[in-house]
Amino acid sequence: MNFEKVLKKATFLDPLKGFQEGGRECEVRTDPLTGRNSRILFFPLRELPEPDYEYLRKKDPGFCPFCPENIPKITPKFNPALFGSDRYRVGEAVCFPNAFPYDENGAVTVMTEKHFVPIDELTDKIIKDAISCCIEFLADVTNGQPEAVYQSINWNYLPDAGSSILHPHLQITASSIPTNYYSDVVKNIAVKGDDLFVRLVSEEQRLSERFLSRKEFFSWMLAFAPEGVFDVMAISHEYFKPSDLSGARLDELVNGICKSIKFISSKRIISYNMSLFFLLGNMHFIPHMRLCPRTTVPPLDTCEINYMKMLHNEPMSTMKPEMVAEEFRKYWI
Ligand SMILES: [Zn+2]
Repeated sequence: MNFEKVLKKATFLDPLKGFQEGGRECEVRTDPLTGRNSRILFFPLRELPEPDYEYLRKKDPGFCPFCPENIPKITPKFNPALFGSDRYRVGEAVCFPNAFPYDENGAVTVMTEKHFVPIDELTDKIIKDAISCCIEFLADVTNGQPEAVYQSINWNYLPDAGSSILHPHLQITASSIPTNYYSDVVKNIAVKGDDLFVRLVSEEQRLSERFLSRKEFFSWMLAFAPEGVFDVMAISHEYFKPSDLSGARLDELVNGICKSIKFISSKRIISYNMSLFFLLGNMHFIPHMRLCPRTTVPPLDTCEINYMKMLHNEPMSTMKPEMVAEEFRKYWI
């Protein structure tokens, strides 16, 4: 396993040094799973301000389709010809069809009855029940539509991460067509070998630069070439079906997600994207999760996604994954 990176240096006459010769370096890194590039900039980090929850509360329209009194009246029900339940429920979590789907099987899981849950109040139980609820939906998809093999559980937490409703919810997709992420990883497995995931985990563990912890079911690490500010990865030690994500395996995954959320919150970031990827029937595409914090940049609340990620599909970060891992590792002891 090769972790490919190229150090780039731009030279210029630096006004901070009286226009003497100077410059800045950056790194171009290739993600071992997707084969896509990310850039690490060596840029001074600004301390983020305290999160402004009041600002969010003031903008909240007041009516929420995901609050428990509105779900039965407003949200769609699953088609009885295809699904065993009109809505799936686990604890307070409720799963129903997405009214604005991205694919033939798009669903939403409202995670809790509470309308607004700040990042520090998200518990293991909320996340575990919500994922279990998604898994029940996916099990029925798999029974009725075996061609829908590209299955993922996704989370946009709060508006900075793309959520249009404050009420915490997951989004589930099961499709016969891969997203670009799946296509890139599958192509890369064909080039780099069937054991790509296994080699990645073993090499990350050996190097210990970005590795966080090896647990019974998953290994946890920071991605070498992050998709965002930083990129926490959990890679399973073996192939499994979504319906096998239960018991101790689910507990372990949820526990790591909660640790990741706590770490993100310690950076005064309150928003993130998460995806949990499955590819049914492909034993070489190992189930894994990626979780990236999302923030805006002060003082203008500038969106962190600019033309590079938007049009070149090339993420940038000012945080070196090795340094993030060093700090985050303390949460795993
Ligand atoms: Zn609500």
